[in-house]
Amino acid sequence: MAEQTPECKARRAKFLEEAGAAFDRMMKEDQEQMITFDQMEDRALEVGGKLQRWLVEQCLAQAARRRAAAPPACCPKCGKTLQFAPTPKERRIRGRTGEVAVERQEGYCPSCRKAFFPSGPSVEAGG
Ligand SMILES: [Zn+2]
Repeated sequence: MAEQTPECKARRAKFLEEAGAAFDRMMKEDQEQMITFDQMEDRALEVGGKLQRWLVEQCLAQAARRRAAAPPACCPKCGKTLQFAPTPKERRIRGRTGEVAVERQEGYCPSCRKAFFPSGPSVEAGG
């Protein structure tokens, strides 16, 4: 396994905690009342789906942290440096794992008087 940073280890530990909670939800006591295969499968899909959405959100958050560390983005039209609001905007994206929350820094170009979401994962098309 590749060397992990302390931050990465902490997030991995959080994932294991989430996975443990997913297991507990799957195996909780009313399990005996789930008599049909379909009911078991429904719960597995629901429980697994939550974990999938959580993973997608973690990846989006990581991409956001990388962008935040990158040099200031430029306007795609005129090339001037974009201005950023102090707080990112939350957007909801509907993907194959369901709806996830993503925080995006909206850049504003005073010359073009337009707002842009600079380089991120290519989720714009769906939003
Ligand atoms: Zn511009």
